[in-house]
Amino acid sequence: MTRLSTAALQTAMKYDVLANWEINKLCNLNCEYCFVSRKRRRSPAYAGHRVETIVDAFNGSGLVWLIHMSGGEPFLQPYFVELCKELTKKHYISINTNLSTPNVNDFADTIDPRKVAFIHCSLHIDERQRINGLEAFTEKYHLLEDRGFKTCASQVMYPPTLKNFEPTFNRLRENGIAVSPKTFRGHYHLKNYPSDYTQKERNLIQQFQRHDHSHDSIFLFGNLSFTGLMCDAGKDFVVISYHGIVRRCFGDPTSLGNIFQGKIKLLRRPELCPANICTCPYFGLRFAHGNYKVVKETRLNAARYCISKLTQTALEHLGLPRSPNG
Ligand code: SF4
Ligand code: SF4
Repeated sequence: MTRLSTAALQTAMKYDVLANWEINKLCNLNCEYCFVSRKRRRSPAYAGHRVETIVDAFNGSGLVWLIHMSGGEPFLQPYFVELCKELTKKHYISINTNLSTPNVNDFADTIDPRKVAFIHCSLHIDERQRINGLEAFTEKYHLLEDRGFKTCASQVMYPPTLKNFEPTFNRLRENGIAVSPKTFRGHYHLKNYPSDYTQKERNLIQQFQRHDHSHDSIFLFGNLSFTGLMCDAGKDFVVISYHGIVRRCFGDPTSLGNIFQGKIKLLRRPELCPANICTCPYFGLRFAHGNYKVVKETRLNAARYCISKLTQTALEHLGLPRSPNG
């Protein structure tokens, strides 16, 4: 298959809306910093919807989508390669994956790379080492690259991981994989990250970032805020939950309908950002109009976060719905 340059790939993609879609919640790994609860990560009830249901939903909207599939682990969706084949007849896709399942090879052999914006391969090194999967990760990564897919790799800079990451980072670099260090945004031992990274930790992350062209160096000192600025989220970008609920973004929970029920109404023009913190700053940087502020987290927010996690767990035990990504 002819390999296309990144620029050629992006120029060729003409779509109406970018969607960040939670395709499933099922996952075979157990990362400590995961947003999906342990119970749901192992529940076949959250493996994903039927191929026909999904394809009809996106096709029935009358729009051309760039569907960014996130999970869970998208490759665990039943008939995932068949789903990608069907979706890419009219739409474009991109994928967040842990690159740990055998059907990655089938995907590489079947799907047209010109329909795939990128494949973001998350290393999750602690889990990868537990399953002895570093070599398989490297092989699959290079297979996708060789078939012409635009690939990138990243590792969350979770405080316990950060201390021992350097040898793996160097080994992968020697093998032609430049791992982007992703700033950890969350709480660990009642500290708030990224605000509570020590200077030593920041220096280490910045050392890894020397070879990196992503936005993550911006997030190293706090969260981003675009409050009060116009943002195209809801018009050019939406988030779609596992159950099909379409929202403007992670920071603005206003519902714009449900794609599986064939009822969505996107915004017609940019609107003000109502969120104190942009919890999806990659999208904020792309869709908000104007300059961001860096906001430091407080101890009060850490306590609130812990209470919210406990509440979410209690709701799950009672079988009641939790917030998306909770
Ligand atoms: S690979 Fe992703 S979805 Fe799976 S446990 Fe890790 S963070 Fe969660
Ligand atoms: S800046 Fe971020 S939080 Fe605000 S509306 Fe845009 S995407 Fe949502």
